[in-house]
Amino acid sequence: MSPQSAIQHEDALHHLHPFTNSGRLNKKGARVITRAEGVYIWDEGGQKIIDGMAGLWCVNLGYGRTELADVANEQMRVLPYYNTFFQTTHGPAAALAKAIAEVTPGDLNHIFFANSGSEAIDTIMRLARHYWAIKGKPYRNILIARENAYHGSTLAGASLGGMGGMHKQGAPLVPGIERIRQPYWYGEGGDMSEDEFGLACARALEEKILQVGPDNVAAFIGEPIQGAGGVIVPPETYWPEIQRICRKYDILLVADEVICGFGRTGNWFGSQTYGIEPDMISMAKGLSSGYLPIAAVAVGDRVANALIDHDEDFNHGFTYSGHPVAAAVALKTIEIMQQENIVERVRDVIAPYFQQKLAELADHPLVGHIDKKGLVAGMALMMDKATKTPFPADIDIGMICRDHCFENGLIMRATGSRMILSPPLVITEAELDELFLKARHCLDLTL
Ligand code: PLP
Repeated sequence: MSPQSAIQHEDALHHLHPFTNSGRLNKKGARVITRAEGVYIWDEGGQKIIDGMAGLWCVNLGYGRTELADVANEQMRVLPYYNTFFQTTHGPAAALAKAIAEVTPGDLNHIFFANSGSEAIDTIMRLARHYWAIKGKPYRNILIARENAYHGSTLAGASLGGMGGMHKQGAPLVPGIERIRQPYWYGEGGDMSEDEFGLACARALEEKILQVGPDNVAAFIGEPIQGAGGVIVPPETYWPEIQRICRKYDILLVADEVICGFGRTGNWFGSQTYGIEPDMISMAKGLSSGYLPIAAVAVGDRVANALIDHDEDFNHGFTYSGHPVAAAVALKTIEIMQQENIVERVRDVIAPYFQQKLAELADHPLVGHIDKKGLVAGMALMMDKATKTPFPADIDIGMICRDHCFENGLIMRATGSRMILSPPLVITEAELDELFLKARHCLDLTL
């Protein structure tokens, strides 16, 4: 295959794609997506594809929501832009801050706006260190994260994340970052029970804190469920122990909820699913259901009050922090979620059905193990599941399966040899039936 349509030609000539081998893509041409409705997208050739990834874990309310388009249109006419830097604000930013404060757990009552998850993470990294500087402890600047975590693509986000492929490029990384192991029980748990392994992984945090000195650590940052790392669902014992350790050493606990936030795990936030009360939460994606770029950091009273009481500007922000159109769309997204009881429906109806369909797929010879929670899942593909033997490195089994899915009208993402599902939260049982029928067929083709 080579670029055929006008769009493919233009694209190959001028568009550098993210996370892509451009040389290879340009030879065959990118698949052109032209429109979308509900949980389906259509490509240029007219093929209808069920979107098992909600775009990139973000189109939670599904495509074609005219209410969101109408709100954007109206806001653009009334006030398309004004900044929130110089002693000014506007209705959408203020109302959205209040709405986010109301749905977040604990005392996360203060909201800082950004445009992307990566910017939210940069904000948190700076804010955590700045907090300790305000408190007279500027040496408390080490940030602890995890192997195989994804926290974005800016230099700070890539440095904080634990993706080796990203660390290789654009180095040197931001200093002052330490990492501990991930809680991936199926892959790394050995003979331990899931609960024992969860505790062991959490205690790696305590070991790291003691190694670098508790008085040097600013914060621990983790995704409640690692998303881009392959949907690594932690054992139930993990997060409570992490919280206990953070409290013991007075270390800020940060949940990166860019994927888990806004209903994905069956609660508004993954922190609620795991019973933790972080000092800060980053969010993006589902905040606007992916309709416009917007992100936020929800900040707890402790950090926010230190900032507020400290008589100095916080020298950080983005031209589009709290952009009125994006904020209006995000506000409407939250309103729709509340009116349609989206979170309750995920928790009580659609996630249980999704999990049942996953359990049925578990007998497939390629599927070694499925990590699942709420409406997100990661399947480990194995050459021999009985002996847990992975495919050799020269067989990119994930890509092979992903391509079969693409050709057969299903978007399922591959992360290494793990296949990921994270469909729109509004998906119906009938649509899940179709999705899983296709998934099984594509796994068969991959065999
Ligand atoms: N944090 C997490 C957990 C993510 O999954 C992502 C993106 O997938 C990011 C941060 C970065 O967000 P963005 O791509 O909007 O910069």
